[in-house]
Amino acid sequence: MNKLKILDRFVCSGCGTCCRWTGSVLLEEHDLARIAQHLNMSEAQFIARHTQLAPSRRQLALMDQEDGSCEFLKGNRCSIYDARPEQCRTFPFAWSVAEGCPELDRLRTEEKNIDRT
Ligand code: SF4
Repeated sequence: MNKLKILDRFVCSGCGTCCRWTGSVLLEEHDLARIAQHLNMSEAQFIARHTQLAPSRRQLALMDQEDGSCEFLKGNRCSIYDARPEQCRTFPFAWSVAEGCPELDRLRTEEKNIDRT
């Protein structure tokens, strides 16, 4: 079973693990207007209150909570899910690193067990 087959079967369980990973939630140009509108604020207000310059200094990223998790993670849920950034929408399909996702780990274990039979 190849990687594509695993991703075909991937369904997010909503555990919030990837929202707690260290690293930036990078924002695309089109994310800004969508999230600002969702929060009922202007793009300028959203940028001032909820973004920071990414380490690369070439892009904006969402602010973090003190523990490094995304500012918009409330409990295990994304509080802006319907307007979440492109980076979050493409997890894990467009990510080169997705270690530690319980659902992906479960599928990988299943795959190993199938290969052994
Ligand atoms: S925007 Fe939502 S889905 Fe994306 S990292 Fe933050 S809490 Fe998670």
